Amino acid sequence: MLKHIAKLLSVKEESSILKRCEADESTKLRHKYAPYYDLFDRQEGSHVWLNGKELILLSSSDYLGLSDHPSVIEAGKKALEQWGASSNGARVANGGRAYHRELEDALAQFLQVEAVHVHAAGYLSCMSAVQSFGQRGDLILVDRNVHSSLWSGIHSSLARVEKFSHNSPASLRKVLSYEEAATPKMLVFEGVYSMEGHIAPIPEFLEAIQGQNTMTLMDDAHGLGVLGREGRGTAHHLGVNGQVDLICGSLSKSLGSVGGFVAGPRCLIEYMRTHSKQTLFSAALSGVQSACALEALRVLQAEPQHIRRLWANVERYREFLLDLELDLWNSETPAVPIVLGDKKKAYYFRQALLEKGVYTTLAIAPAVPPKKELIRTSISARHTDADLDRIFEAFKFAVRKVL
Ligand code: PMP
Repeated sequence: MLKHIAKLLSVKEESSILKRCEADESTKLRHKYAPYYDLFDRQEGSHVWLNGKELILLSSSDYLGLSDHPSVIEAGKKALEQWGASSNGARVANGGRAYHRELEDALAQFLQVEAVHVHAAGYLSCMSAVQSFGQRGDLILVDRNVHSSLWSGIHSSLARVEKFSHNSPASLRKVLSYEEAATPKMLVFEGVYSMEGHIAPIPEFLEAIQGQNTMTLMDDAHGLGVLGREGRGTAHHLGVNGQVDLICGSLSKSLGSVGGFVAGPRCLIEYMRTHSKQTLFSAALSGVQSACALEALRVLQAEPQHIRRLWANVERYREFLLDLELDLWNSETPAVPIVLGDKKKAYYFRQALLEKGVYTTLAIAPAVPPKKELIRTSISARHTDADLDRIFEAFKFAVRKVL
């Protein structure tokens, strides 16, 4: 008996995977320098408290500050009372609720598409929007800087994949020049790149794929609520609404909730409902998530001041950073990277901002290309003039201390 127990306990010793994980240098470094996985004690709008210290949050994707809008909170409370905390099942079985249809119809109308399907996370939506459609014999053409959720979809589809240079229609054309026009293809890109703040050159992409048998998928997680009339997204902003086949995105950015969506022609959404593993085998969006996103979508349209405030803040912020001669990687959106080009500099720059009460996110390789190590910042409509003044003082301090 004792021998048996000893054998069971020794399993830990024998597992190579466990040993590999225990010895992992990246995890050791993360624990040593600890810039990730912070747990805030408290939050009020764009302010958070970390170990009792108040900080301005300068890296949240709550672009319009709607996550604690009074009517969004009220809608969430009501939904919790009406529907409970969970959907407890996948949509295909017992997880479907009337609120799913309500949110999907509202999003479809807002995005001016035929149909929408919502998931419990943007990651599921974006992964599903690729994986459901790509199959053996197809070719996926992808901007090399797209989000991990799209890569997960690409890698788990059986399609062949070719990368093209970030935001480069010329590179896309070059890749296409080696391919048969008749091969079924899917072009995958983002409307707005959250790390770089870049906007995709959609009209040029559409021109490049003419006559190439290509379906288009855009992840507009960071374009929705930010760009285009009433925040309808990047395609609206660039005047190509209706010309991108599928749009996926997240409810956790401008819509102040949690969850994701895929939007497009009804036949594609229905096909996804039949074939998508992420849709068939994962619990549906909860009532609270759904009600908060739906109310944020209403607020977004009824109260245009939030988008106006967001862009006024972006202008002021960008101007200030450029005066400090910081490298913003030509960001054009509220996602503004501060490229420091060196792991240590980026780390110490972030620490200096933290010392002065400003919380940002560190992004180092492989999350960014080598020499592009950066601090990821994003501006929100929720930042007040006083917040911006404090942020500017912190940046002046960090520049003096680190650069
Ligand atoms: N796509 C992009 C471009 C994103 O930035 C994110 C979130 N970081 C996602 C998809 C996934 O969304 P979610 O956080 O809602 O899962």
